[in-house]
Amino acid sequence: MPLAIRDTYTYLVPDDMPNPQPGMRVLVPLAKKQLTGIVLRAHTEPLPETIHLRAIIALLDEQPAVGAGQLALWQWIAAYYMCPIGDVMAAALPARIYDKAYSFSPVKKRRVKLPAYPGEIEDIHPLSDVQQRAKQEIEQAWKTHETVLLHGVTASGKTEVYMHLIREQLEAGRQVLYLVPEIALTTQLTDRLQRVFGDQVVVYHSRVTDALRAEIYRQQLHPQSRLIVGARSAVLLPFDGLGLVIVDEEHETSYKQQDPAPRYHARSAAIMLAHQEGAKVLLGTATPSVETYYNARTGKYGLVELSQRYRDVALPKVELIDLERQYHRKEMYGHFSDPLVARMREVLAQGKQVILFQNRRGYAPQLQCTVCGQPPRCEHCDVPLTLHMQAKEMRCHYCGFTRAIPTVCPACGGPLKIRGFGTERLEDEVASLFPEARVLRMDLDTTRHKNDYQDIIDRFARHECDILIGTQMVTKGLHFDDVALVAVLSADHLMNQPDFRAYERCYQMLSQVAGRAGRKEQQGEVMIQTWQRDNGVLHHVLAHDYLSLYREQIAERELFHYPPFYRIIELTLRHSKETEAVRAARLLQQRLRGVFGDRVSDVIVPSVARIQNQHIRMVRLRVEVQANIRGAKERVAEQIAWVQQQSKSIQILADVDPQ
Ligand code: ADP
Ligand code: ZN
Repeated sequence: MPLAIRDTYTYLVPDDMPNPQPGMRVLVPLAKKQLTGIVLRAHTEPLPETIHLRAIIALLDEQPAVGAGQLALWQWIAAYYMCPIGDVMAAALPARIYDKAYSFSPVKKRRVKLPAYPGEIEDIHPLSDVQQRAKQEIEQAWKTHETVLLHGVTASGKTEVYMHLIREQLEAGRQVLYLVPEIALTTQLTDRLQRVFGDQVVVYHSRVTDALRAEIYRQQLHPQSRLIVGARSAVLLPFDGLGLVIVDEEHETSYKQQDPAPRYHARSAAIMLAHQEGAKVLLGTATPSVETYYNARTGKYGLVELSQRYRDVALPKVELIDLERQYHRKEMYGHFSDPLVARMREVLAQGKQVILFQNRRGYAPQLQCTVCGQPPRCEHCDVPLTLHMQAKEMRCHYCGFTRAIPTVCPACGGPLKIRGFGTERLEDEVASLFPEARVLRMDLDTTRHKNDYQDIIDRFARHECDILIGTQMVTKGLHFDDVALVAVLSADHLMNQPDFRAYERCYQMLSQVAGRAGRKEQQGEVMIQTWQRDNGVLHHVLAHDYLSLYREQIAERELFHYPPFYRIIELTLRHSKETEAVRAARLLQQRLRGVFGDRVSDVIVPSVARIQNQHIRMVRLRVEVQANIRGAKERVAEQIAWVQQQSKSIQILADVDPQ
């Protein structure tokens, strides 16, 4: 049932009811309610006399609503990610399937045709020699591996290679699932796919209505719709003759679902799905996750490298600007160093465009009291509020709480000053530095409405503006022909995250943002401002040297017991009373220590220890990959269940392979 309950339930089949098959819907009693559930398994063994089961009320389907392959994938996700199968089911199924009046019986074939493509169909580009070779290597590698990594530098034409592989699958009558990190940020790609594959493309995004999702479930998808482009949840769709799964930008963290459960990784689920359906997987990226690259180098996945840009356009020239020196010499204007301002002036004078990257939205991350040093905080979460000048308010980026901008420190009454800076502040500085330039800003605040994002991209692509200021949104696989300069205002907070993946992420983010520069003919230019100009990660970015970054990271991961050598299971405890959260966390930690010894961390107080009035504590477990992970998870589940017996109102969530 679509409930967050750990177990499945067993019911009796009444004598006069046909035997329900797995995947059929049944109406069953639960406490005083009636609920729709899906049959997972039929038992035939006799019941002990002492057990009394309630009976199924009605069998709703004549044929399974959910296929055997899907049920198997749900079970895998539930077991691997330690969540109730009901959570997976709730994530997968459209809501109306639970309506007992909804019929699955094949009505007269009224197949849904998903958004028809009105435009002209274009020819697919022929591949260059290098791309053709990569395609052949991929096909060769698929003979011995189900999963292949295409490691291709930015603008090497990975998408063109995908399209050739897709075309072959479609011509053979098979389906293709094309996963992207965020569908809203992928309009350039979906346009391109539709221009080539027309009506065969189905874009599966959050705006697809429940009715349409239900139709997809009835497997009444028009037979022509065979290329499904979607974000992570598309992996939970019912497929029919799946031949290929592409996971584009495989390193992106948005493939991992955070909240609510199931906290699954779409890349892993896709590999499992393909395995069950007998399909192949292609992971593509310019900056592989360390785990994926490790799997590729150790032979678990095939590995194909595409190290030349299309037309051999040179990779961008990356330059570091030493902020310490700049500030010391007072050669700064606001957050812009003199060399950056000078270069921007030249580029703009040539009629070219500039992208400014700052991975923070808002005017400044916080206000700070000049007397007590405290920033104004959220009333429900232990985080400082963020200043949003245009909205004239302060906002909590965790729970959305807002308040008016205080004139004095709420704690001590002292005067406040602005600390740090975000995209909104940059916009102001740009306006005074380059009063003639036309500026657009792209961040969460300027893309709240459904067409905003597309609008900004289109206007920038049409060169209706000269400078685009943005958060990581601007790093996502876009290409603009006229961008000659990309600047990163501060690389420092990317490197300073307290996370074992910080350097990997920093490399990925900077390389991706750099990849937006000079994608056509001319070599692009990237300027990175930093206080840590000697940091090794930045030098790998400078040299476009992924392999060195990987070698350093993998050595550290092994030394300090991180993935891919160890699996991490993170347990989060939440309670409205801090004392209860602490007590339960200690109990759990001690019980786990008893089983796993020093693989269990101390009780962790997270950097944000209260969100929406829930106090949070964590316990982290690291298990060697060679260990029996299923057994380990069962032990963990037992301990969780035990603690929940002791402290009934505690909430305990498991996150396997946290990102
Ligand atoms: P990647 O996905 O590796 O970043 P893209 O596939 O987006 O690279 O290619 C970068 C640019 O080069 C795009 O504008 C694309 O249309 C162009 N391009 C790449 N390969 C070809 C090709 N074989 N023929 C024509 N244009 C190509
Ligand atoms: Zn809050």
